[in-house]
Amino acid sequence: MSKMQSVVVPALGAPWELATTEAPEAGPGQVLVKVRASGICGTDVWITEGKLSFGVDFPMTLGHEGVGEIVAVGDGVTTRSVGDRVGLVTLQMGCGRCAWCRRAEPLDFVTAAHCERPVLTGMNVTGANAEYVAVQAGATVLLPENLSFEYAAPLMCVGYTAWSGLQRANPQPGERVAVSGIGGMGHLALQYAKAAGFMTIAITSSPDKRNLAHDLGADLVVSNGSELREAGGANILLHTNSSNAAVADAFQGVAPRGRVVLMGIAFDELAVPNMPMLMNSIQILGSAHNGTQYLTQALEIAAEGKVAPMVEVYGKDRARDAYQRTAEGKARFRAVITHD
Ligand SMILES: [Zn+2]
Ligand SMILES: [Zn+2]
Repeated sequence: MSKMQSVVVPALGAPWELATTEAPEAGPGQVLVKVRASGICGTDVWITEGKLSFGVDFPMTLGHEGVGEIVAVGDGVTTRSVGDRVGLVTLQMGCGRCAWCRRAEPLDFVTAAHCERPVLTGMNVTGANAEYVAVQAGATVLLPENLSFEYAAPLMCVGYTAWSGLQRANPQPGERVAVSGIGGMGHLALQYAKAAGFMTIAITSSPDKRNLAHDLGADLVVSNGSELREAGGANILLHTNSSNAAVADAFQGVAPRGRVVLMGIAFDELAVPNMPMLMNSIQILGSAHNGTQYLTQALEIAAEGKVAPMVEVYGKDRARDAYQRTAEGKARFRAVITHD
């Protein structure tokens, strides 16, 4: 067994640290990926802090925004080759046997939530915050050639979620899209909405993010729901916040027959006003990773240069700093660890 360096969460709530671990090998049906970059997601913070658990056992190597190069393929793999540039899809596979899997549902986050034994990279099996990771060949996507690893990494979760959420609302030509929260997900949701040709509105209460939101493609920046309403409202409201209160306020700017897409994970209650919702026939839609086709679309749009994640790149020896920046909400807007 050869050794490698991994970023390990030693125990619940403990600081991340660099450790020497056993390097994995590609088992049957798997590929071995030399990780080049992996993004840190808000989910990683909540797993570390114990607010969310997908059955994780500490010590644990997290990382579900991994990208890299295939350096070995296991028995039976025909769809991937050594040298392929790939990204890792979080849900590697369902168990294939439980009541949910018998329905032949797609590999999306609903399956991740309902399969009895899903395999989730960096959530209940070893993730990409390491020099190497072995995953199911079918749980990789080929990266577009002209997309850098540093840009591709955040798209594997947060960019995928942003694009999935916009599509979940079934946007129609001429509609106006508002994004609540300009952070890791929001800064990408803004760019994707603009790239798809929609009039795009940023909602942020942070004065220091107003100019940035314009730079990211917002046609209009407002600070709350009443300003949104006065500015003509939005047909689609993308909730990328870590606070539900801000989104509840933004409801007043949602146009008749509008759609509100919940994408940001927030732990406070979402209080929804009854009468305006029913009188205006407004839909609230949950959304996460909605199917790999949305991931590949998100990657292609970025490869065309229409979307560029803002990343802070950290060497693996500074993974702890990268984690702290993310946990404190200071990363602009995604901390990415490199494993060269
Ligand atoms: Zn994530
Ligand atoms: Zn299952």
